Amino acid sequence: MAFEFDLNKVKESLVNAGKEVESMAKDASAVAKIKIDIHNKEVFLEKQYALLGKAFYEAHKDEEVEEQVYFTSIKEAEVELAQLNADLLAAQGAVECPSCGSKQPQDKAFCADCGAALNKSEEL
Ligand SMILES: [Zn+2]
Repeated sequence: MAFEFDLNKVKESLVNAGKEVESMAKDASAVAKIKIDIHNKEVFLEKQYALLGKAFYEAHKDEEVEEQVYFTSIKEAEVELAQLNADLLAAQGAVECPSCGSKQPQDKAFCADCGAALNKSEEL
């Protein structure tokens, strides 16, 4: 008979809904954990690709290869990075020792770490 109210069916569906919510909560923490695992693995993979790419770049940067299109942007980025590092040192009032690469105060003539003469800037 249509529209017959079946209390047992209502109870059953409520119980099932409750079980579903409970299992969804369990699933949620399992899902969150898997998402973290996936993210970590993706980061790991990106790093491996980067290391592989860098190894390839170092091995072939002076050769004519198809991947050369990447070399230009890497070389440009390296130049920009070197400039940014120089800007950072300048902003910190420091210079980089040309011999050992350590950070030294701009007003010192010699490196405190290795004793090498520091590049004095133009204004001196
Ligand atoms: Zn030094």
